[in-house]
Amino acid sequence: MTEKILIFTGQSPNGIHKTETAMLCLRRRGWDVADEHAAVVRKSPALARGVLLHAGLAHYYARLKCAQTGTDPDAYYTPEEAISRIPGMEDSLCPVVLREQTPVVLKALAGYYARWMHDKVRVLAVEQVVTIPLPGFGGPGEPPEKTARIDLIVERGGRIFFWDHKSAGRITKRHPWFYARSAQFLLLRWFGRQLADKFGGVVLNLVQCADTTDYQRPPLDAVSGLLTSLPASLSYYERQRLAFERSGLPAVLWPAVPSEHTCQGRYSACAHARKCETAVPPVIDTDWPVVDIAGYAKKLLGRIDR
Ligand code: SF4
Repeated sequence: MTEKILIFTGQSPNGIHKTETAMLCLRRRGWDVADEHAAVVRKSPALARGVLLHAGLAHYYARLKCAQTGTDPDAYYTPEEAISRIPGMEDSLCPVVLREQTPVVLKALAGYYARWMHDKVRVLAVEQVVTIPLPGFGGPGEPPEKTARIDLIVERGGRIFFWDHKSAGRITKRHPWFYARSAQFLLLRWFGRQLADKFGGVVLNLVQCADTTDYQRPPLDAVSGLLTSLPASLSYYERQRLAFERSGLPAVLWPAVPSEHTCQGRYSACAHARKCETAVPPVIDTDWPVVDIAGYAKKLLGRIDR
């Protein structure tokens, strides 16, 4: 019997998540790098719900695409089969937490099918990785070229939309306002400009995974000022991130952003707060990585019409 397809829903190879962390606090990215090297297993229920939900929806829409194109949906696992396989495969998340969160995600998915059963969209692609060149300062393969994994690409009314699935403990009216300002979604909107007037926009596919479920699909408004400055922002912060990652310096020597907005945050404290509060930096007897601010400014000014 042919093995069914299990869709990978993890981060894309050069995605923006690392840059976003570095933009928030370079040292936080430094601690993340240390965790990646130590293969730290995370125990976050919210992360676990997000991973399980993505697996479920990826298989739901892959099967729907098969049905829409006249191919065999059973080439893919069902959402429930895919979810049941995640705890044995996802090595960056605690399998016990993944299993604990499975019932709430399955319940949310059952409600999702009922809520959107009459949805009229044509599925174009599921978990599609794209490369996004940005006008700026690097060549191919250099920053600021980035990749993104688009959860779902659909067509409705002759226009193409990028959907991003988000699990939430409680959906609020503020969700689209917050996410419209996220570099992840600004980058998708930037990519969508290549589709010109065929592009319908970026949509949040919100799924409330809790005792009571809820489902909403707000569009994300274009935030034009942040969009036009995106290449400069990414280029600048990518260079700093890469300079520190290549430096080999321990995280405790990366620049910190000690602030109630970063160390505490909107939802919870920074996962590395305890280390930051207690780690004592060694004497600095090494050269700091050089971030070419002067060269960057010169190039930037050279590209502005004056
Ligand atoms: S605790 Fe604060 S300074 Fe330390 S990594 Fe987190 S956000 Fe940065």
